[in-house]
This record gives sequence, structure tokens and C-alpha cells, in this order.
Amino acid sequence: MTSQRARDRLIERLTGEGIRDRRVLDVLRQLPRHLFIDEALATRAYEDTALPIGQGQTISQPYVVARMTEVLIEHAMPRRVLEIGTGSGYQCAVLASLVEQVYTVERIDELLRNARRRFRKLGLSNIRSRHDDGRLGWPEEAPFDAIMVTAAGAELEEALLDQLAADGVLVAPVGPPGRQELLRVRAGADGWQRENLGAVSFVPLLGGVA
Ligand code: SAH
Repeated sequence: MTSQRARDRLIERLTGEGIRDRRVLDVLRQLPRHLFIDEALATRAYEDTALPIGQGQTISQPYVVARMTEVLIEHAMPRRVLEIGTGSGYQCAVLASLVEQVYTVERIDELLRNARRRFRKLGLSNIRSRHDDGRLGWPEEAPFDAIMVTAAGAELEEALLDQLAADGVLVAPVGPPGRQELLRVRAGADGWQRENLGAVSFVPLLGGVA
């Protein structure tokens, strides 16, 4: 099966699972996910599953990437987005295909180097990346219209909420392994409004760099 045909099948499946946003589906239909994983796993690139990317980390399941992107852009298309947990770079590339500028932070140097190589290969020039502890965000570039965290912390990170624009939106998995929930947070009349979007399973948000 050609990778385009495999991607078309994946899109049919995601549509069946409830992904509705055409803009997101169109990006996933175009973007070569097989370039974001090891060649040995490339034949599985268009299955709707998370896959290992080395260093004990995973590239998120396509459904989760689609859903998180959809809920991030639902109310308004953000202009500047911060992603925490670059990993393979796939989610970042999806965002970069939709918004003006993406900032991404990864704590594992080797993963970040691989992701940067993929961004160059695909000609994605609207991504800035940084090797750091993403729990601190990227204060020099704040505020962001949207922030997406792709690793699960025990709590929402205050530093990240502080870096959100007044009408911004943050999407993050929060909670211990086995009991994580995907949260969407927006500023409300009296403080942060949290919306629970359901159970998810992410690798943990860790401190420090490696
Ligand atoms: N968005 C990625 C998902 C990768 S898994 C993708 O599309 O492939 C989550 C990533 O978050 C891992 O690479 C992990 O190293 C990274 N991570 C965990 N804690 C972090 C932290 N405090 N700061 C930055 N990255 C972190």
C-alpha cells in the first residue's frame, strides 16, 4: 500500500472515531508520519497507535494528535503556539502546518536533534525549538495564543498558565499513570475554566534535561 493510500485509510478511521475538523484531517492526510519514526517501524506508521521513538518515549497515537489539535483551534485559530515535549516532532509539524509560528521545547537532546532534522527535511521553517525543561515554558517568547503539553504532569504547570495570552487556550494531560485526563484550560470571568475532555495515556512530564 502506498503511504498516501495508507494515510487516506487513517483519515477514514479518524473520521469514524469522531474527528470532525477538516483543517486537521487535511493536514494529517498530507503529513508523512512515517518520516517521524524509525525505519524499522515505518510500515506501522499509519496504524492508529502510539509507537516507540527511543529514549523510552513515544510518538502519540494519530487520534490523540488529531483530537488535541482540534480542541486547541476550536474557538479561534491561534497565531503563536507553544508545544511542550517535541518528541518525534510530529505533533509540532501538524501545528506548524496550521498556525503562523510554533515554539517547541524538549528535554532529551537526542530526540530534539532528530526532530530538527525532520523539520528541515520537510521545509518547515516556522518552528523554533529549544532544549530545556518545558515545565518552565519559554518566557522570552510569551505570551502564547495557545499552549499544548504532550507529556502528563501531576498538576497544571503555573509557569505555563502565566505564559498564556488573555484569551489563550492550554491543552494538557494531567494526572498519575492510569488516571490521566486531558484538560482544556481557558481564562474565565472568575479564574481559569477547566474542561475535562476524557481519559488519556501519556508519558510523564519529567524535570531537568537529558
Ligand atoms: N509531541 C510528541 C510526543 C512525544 S512524547 C510527538 O508528537 O512525538 C512526550 C515528550 O515529552 C517526550 O519526548 C519527552 O522527552 C518530553 N518531555 C517530558 N518531560 C518534559 C519536560 N519537562 N520538558 C520538555 N519535554 C519533556
